[in-house]
Amino acid sequence: ASESDIFIRRQPRGSALGTAATDVLAGGATSSWQIADPQPVWLDHGAGGHIWDVDGNEYVDLHGGYGAGIAGHAHPAIVAAVTEQVSRGTHFAQPTEDALWVARSLAQRYDLPLWRFANSGTEATMDAVHLMRAVTGRDMIIKVEGCYHGHHDSVQVSVSPDLDEAGPAHRPESVPSSTGIPTAITELTRIVGFNDLDAVRRILDENPGQVAGMIVEPVMMNAGIITPEPGYLAGLRDTLHSAGALLTFDEVKTGFTAGPGGATARFGVRPDIICLAKSLGGGLSTAAIGGTSDVMSAIADGIYEQVGTFNGNPLAMAAARANVYQVLDDSAYRHLADLAAHASAAITDVIAAHGLAWHVKSVGAKGCVIFSPTPVTDYREFLQLDDRWGQLHWLIQHNGGVFLPPWGKVEQWLLSVAHTHADVDRLVTNFERLAVIAEE
Ligand code: PLP
Repeated sequence: ASESDIFIRRQPRGSALGTAATDVLAGGATSSWQIADPQPVWLDHGAGGHIWDVDGNEYVDLHGGYGAGIAGHAHPAIVAAVTEQVSRGTHFAQPTEDALWVARSLAQRYDLPLWRFANSGTEATMDAVHLMRAVTGRDMIIKVEGCYHGHHDSVQVSVSPDLDEAGPAHRPESVPSSTGIPTAITELTRIVGFNDLDAVRRILDENPGQVAGMIVEPVMMNAGIITPEPGYLAGLRDTLHSAGALLTFDEVKTGFTAGPGGATARFGVRPDIICLAKSLGGGLSTAAIGGTSDVMSAIADGIYEQVGTFNGNPLAMAAARANVYQVLDDSAYRHLADLAAHASAAITDVIAAHGLAWHVKSVGAKGCVIFSPTPVTDYREFLQLDDRWGQLHWLIQHNGGVFLPPWGKVEQWLLSVAHTHADVDRLVTNFERLAVIAEE
């Protein structure tokens, strides 16, 4: 690679802020995953599909705030809704009418009747795990190796395990993914590979009457993009139900991005519980948990108290209502599908023209390049991918004015309703520079 590919865009003010921040922000950022290589990017503002850093560099924003940005930045409908609500009060800890409208939309999109709100994906999946335990009276849960569900104790297990400790692929060990997680909690989370239904059956057979349920990303999206094999999701639901256990889809990443009704509608398998966050709030922090009448009666009857001072707060609900009714309509999804098809086809052409053994994976508004010729079906295969191409890709896109999520192969790009075909062209043009280097 030439020096211009490697050299990061000049960010003197950003670098100065980064240095000053270490005095008062632990590690110099507001969340540990903002400190991604090669350097944190300090942003100033966004408009539509674009963002500007504090040094005035402009980028096409395909990072989308880790997948929350399907509405783009400062969408007029969301600005109007939030502006009106700000002047009428931002917090009451009592429901406002917007919450009712958002819940109605979620019930219709995701085919589950009853909903509650929370403030982050972590809170939603924590409620889901609690709820599965409360409804079944059991403690053990099943989780997929490599799936990320946020940072509470029960799911911070085998997110990115050290394979020396992770045991064989057909019988993975439960490995804590963070310090601070008690062993006793880790042991209650049993691990299976994605697309491995037999492993779920085995755990249920070996632990009769002990498994409350399983939490899974219906499309794995913290390992590039790994799609479920035909029959896998329905098989999970039926297998779990036959053992009296529940199924939770963590749709924090797939919700609204895989389609109007997320992966649930896309794959036609209705779980017992769905978790939403990220792209629900039109850029504001909110989350939702939906369930069947049977499951949610545990909340309605006070068996499980699902609580939070800012749950369903008026500002987030105003933004979410505008997002689900005014922004994410049929024409928005047609536009997203056009852009996604453009990106996939053009990048696939570049890969072919340069004779590279890579492919594009895309689900709805999200996509990524898999630096391998064959589809990846589980986390262990994903770990085999050479990440140097992913890292160089990030750098070349960054220097070429496209902001992707960090870490090369782990995350995806997210198209927003505000992006244009010219934005996709910029992604493709930059990608071609990577292809030229790879071909050499
Ligand atoms: N679930 C999935 C699938 C996620 O990707 C994430 C975050 O990346 C979470 C849950 C946690 O969401 P949050 O960061 O809002 O707590």
